Amino acid sequence: MMAALAAAEQGAEVLLLERQARLGRKLAATGNGRCNLTNRSASAAHYHGETPSFCAAALEAMGVEETLSRFLDMGLLTVEEVDGRIYPLSDHANSVVDVLRFSLEAAGVEVRCGTIVEGMEKTGESFSLHFGGETLPADRVIVACGGRAGGKLGGVQDGYRLLESFGHRCTKLHPALVQLKTEGTITRGLKGIRTQALVQVLRDGRAVAEEGGEVQFTEYGLSGPAIFSVSREAVRKGESIVALDLFPELSTEKLHELLLHRVETRPKLCMEDLFTGMLQNRLGRVLVSSAGISGSMPLSESAGLLWKLAKLAKRFAFHVVGDLGFDQAQVTAGGIRTEEFDPSTMESRICSGLFACGEVLDIDGDCGGYNLQWAWSSGWIAGMNAGKGTVIC
Ligand SMILES: Cc1cc2nc3c(=O)[nH]c(=O)nc-3n(C[C@H](O)[C@H](O)[C@H](O)COP(=O)(O)OP(=O)(O)OC[C@H]3O[C@@H](n4cnc5c(N)ncnc54)[C@H](O)[C@@H]3O)c2cc1C
Repeated sequence: MMAALAAAEQGAEVLLLERQARLGRKLAATGNGRCNLTNRSASAAHYHGETPSFCAAALEAMGVEETLSRFLDMGLLTVEEVDGRIYPLSDHANSVVDVLRFSLEAAGVEVRCGTIVEGMEKTGESFSLHFGGETLPADRVIVACGGRAGGKLGGVQDGYRLLESFGHRCTKLHPALVQLKTEGTITRGLKGIRTQALVQVLRDGRAVAEEGGEVQFTEYGLSGPAIFSVSREAVRKGESIVALDLFPELSTEKLHELLLHRVETRPKLCMEDLFTGMLQNRLGRVLVSSAGISGSMPLSESAGLLWKLAKLAKRFAFHVVGDLGFDQAQVTAGGIRTEEFDPSTMESRICSGLFACGEVLDIDGDCGGYNLQWAWSSGWIAGMNAGKGTVIC
């Protein structure tokens, strides 16, 4: 949509072909329906791929300020929240889809939904696009088909196939920003609980990734923004453990002191109430039971156990056995090789007049609005540069 708008702004005649029944179905589901549309800190340091620096030129040409000012122009008011995350003021992702739709209409972009581009080729200077038994000519083409992630919201592999048909190569694809499956049944008993934690991925006893933020316990394992952020390290490089520090602001010694104070001041309470007031009650009880301690034991008998529990709360560890896959992932790590595209125009180095942008390329961002910023920036650059003739997106 952003690419189509930029191309139209250049004066091109633009046709936007969308395989789903409506525009922006995935966009409408982003940020838990709130759409975290960008992040104040967007820069190449927050992106991954074989060559993450590929994204720098687009992010510079169409950065966060420029993006927000374009959205403001379209009528979208936004608000900044923690960690520089930016959302629509309405708190509804649909607002973003709506202002884009209105802008496409105002710019004269023709939109055809329910249209799957099945193939395309270039003969001489002109492209031919095939869909539903029809063939259409185009001077330039922008492939903005997204990636494999979010299968239930329409994530498909069409973009990779269309670009591969021109000789482009795709790297190995992995789900990224994804929920983790963990061994055992402890998380099942905690299902639905959200807590703040410092999350570390441990491999061979060494921390290889770390992120603070919200963690959600689920039937199958762990979810939440902090888990998404470390999921790449947790599943891609062999066996790992995810350890939650449930009291990141306290040292083990300080936590031990607090537990001791609880025992001294409330000796008649039972172990199941040791963490009451410090953690969600069910989480406190599960911590105690997973240390093999009976919840009905009086606190007065807990001597010697408090240190063990303080250490457990600072390192509540889970063996990672996998992730929930592309259907549940927020983004695809990997994609069409960026070395085959010009970073300042998004034009193919293999086929002139062919452009690509967004998730279909081998660039993926951290959790926090970075993936949509990449889609906006690369889409805008692709549209600007493609829009110098008649364009079909
Ligand atoms: C649940 C979820 C939540 C997310 N939340 C956030 C968030 O809050 N912030 C953030 O930055 N990122 C978020 N993301 C990631 C972000 O949505 C994507 O990275 C981004 O949408 C990619 O943009 P894109 O334009 O490249 O692809 P898409 O948004 O996937 O758009 C591609 C479009 O092309 C269409 N298409 C595909 N093949 C064809 C074809 N053959 N013919 C015609 N049309 C075709 C698709 O139907 C789709 O509408 C989230 C993703 C998911 C799944």
